[in-house]
Amino acid sequence: MRKIWIFYCAMPHICCASRCFNTPQQGYALVRFPKEDRYRKIWSDALGENVSSKRSLENLRLCEVHFEPSDLLIVGSRKEVKKNAIPSRFCIAFLR
Ligand SMILES: [Zn+2]
Repeated sequence: MRKIWIFYCAMPHICCASRCFNTPQQGYALVRFPKEDRYRKIWSDALGENVSSKRSLENLRLCEVHFEPSDLLIVGSRKEVKKNAIPSRFCIAFLR
């Protein structure tokens, strides 16, 4: 259990959304990109830039604030997003 916790804290991930720097250390849940190509495409389109060209999607995380609260699930002590959840809350729209 202790090992898992240390591994979690040591993960250098921050949210991949533009102008968002939320980290798990700040108490935000970060989620991986979906495995299905269809949803990966929808997520990268939602991010508004070609994120797949920057880094492998495997290494990207998106934080919980970009999802509707109804799309979040509590699993044990962790938060996850529903399988078909689509991120929709980004600050990009406000800056245009
Ligand atoms: Zn974020």
